Amino acid sequence: MNLDILALAAHPDDVELTCGGTLIKARKQGYKTGILDLTAGEMGTRGTPETRAKEAARAARILGVSYRGSLGVPDSDVQPSRQHKLALARVIRQLRPRTVILPYWEARHPDHYHASTLGYEGCFLAGLKQLALEEEPFRPFKILYCTSFEGMPATFVVDITREYETRRRAILAYGSQFRPAKSERKQRVYLAIDELDAKMDLLARRNGDLIGVKYGEPFLQKELLQIEDVVKLPVRSI
Ligand SMILES: [Zn+2]
Repeated sequence: MNLDILALAAHPDDVELTCGGTLIKARKQGYKTGILDLTAGEMGTRGTPETRAKEAARAARILGVSYRGSLGVPDSDVQPSRQHKLALARVIRQLRPRTVILPYWEARHPDHYHASTLGYEGCFLAGLKQLALEEEPFRPFKILYCTSFEGMPATFVVDITREYETRRRAILAYGSQFRPAKSERKQRVYLAIDELDAKMDLLARRNGDLIGVKYGEPFLQKELLQIEDVVKLPVRSI
């Protein structure tokens, strides 16, 4: 399929919340984008897998991605096991993404940090020529990590000011998560929609502020950035 960017995360809605704006922006720049959800989010307190699948498809349409798939890993049991790594390697070989976006490798939720390791190791495996899979060996060129939550290190921030409203609509497409029925509103884990809105706004604004724009999404890459023209470097210093 030759995707330009594939964003991979543990649960449907993780990608929208961490790098949705960047995917929308890449699409506008003419790139072919995609999302791979490792699980169907079936352990979530609210919403059935069926509703969540419908919501994920709606969000994918809003983001304008060319592909959205689910790897079928059991929710709450994301592990970098051989079986899951091989399944992921096959998908990577089929989609052939140049850039892969992964969750940051430290997180509160075990699925999130395991998704990071599983993602990296699956991409590595996909490039091994001797691996007994039908598809042609392929390894992505670049791996980026989403670091949108406070206190995480970043190497660059993408300006998503123009994409922020569309990203917000994609996140709110997950009605079962953020707009639950009245009977469910007293549950402890329920995040009120206005609270979610305020939190999304605050995080994106903080990250945007780091580069002098309204809204941003931060990323980390393990390699150093190579720069050709030091005169055209963006972001004002003083
Ligand atoms: Zn998640």
